[in-house]
Amino acid sequence: MLEEMELRSEMICVCRKLESRGLIAASDGNVSCRAGEGRLLITPSGLPKGELKESDLLVVDLQGNRLSGEGKPSSEVRMHLAVYEKRPDVAAIVHAHPPLLTAYTLAGLPFMADALPEVWLTIGPVPTAPYATPSTEEVPRAIAPYIEKHRAILLERHGSLTVGKSVEEAYLRLEKLEHAAKTLYYAFVLNQYHPDPLPLSALRKLEALKS
Ligand SMILES: [Zn+2]
Repeated sequence: MLEEMELRSEMICVCRKLESRGLIAASDGNVSCRAGEGRLLITPSGLPKGELKESDLLVVDLQGNRLSGEGKPSSEVRMHLAVYEKRPDVAAIVHAHPPLLTAYTLAGLPFMADALPEVWLTIGPVPTAPYATPSTEEVPRAIAPYIEKHRAILLERHGSLTVGKSVEEAYLRLEKLEHAAKTLYYAFVLNQYHPDPLPLSALRKLEALKS
């Protein structure tokens, strides 16, 4: 495992990417990773992710009690704890509010991970957990049936949860999914709408301009 200072800088790097690539806004989302026996590093509640510093990150135990750092740990700490408890193989979690993936849940559409071979190979199925009040015990309850067998879960009307063996891996899975969501969206739009070509008379006028 990386040293704690390296983990902190990896987390800050991912927080900046979440903000700069439009996968969250302001203080949305949260990031955590394992940082030694019984310890997690987690983002603080209420601070904009794009402006976080390494020293803003908190250390909590596996019950969510703060061991070091200022302020309060992320309000979604219980969601993170529920995943770490069931998945010893998971070392990091990224929760974000990616616009298109979240829009799929608003539209009531399942995310078609099986439509794109690379998504299916590297991430696999991506279920949508039913709506739960953010930052409450309802969230870990809503995702509970999906934690053990998935690398990514969508949260209805809320956002995404991706896991990995590192913060970078959990982040890249999110980036890949939002990109795939765009491709699926374009395919959907193109299927619905075929633009008409210009009328022959208009094309002839263009031809005349060429000569
Ligand atoms: Zn959220």
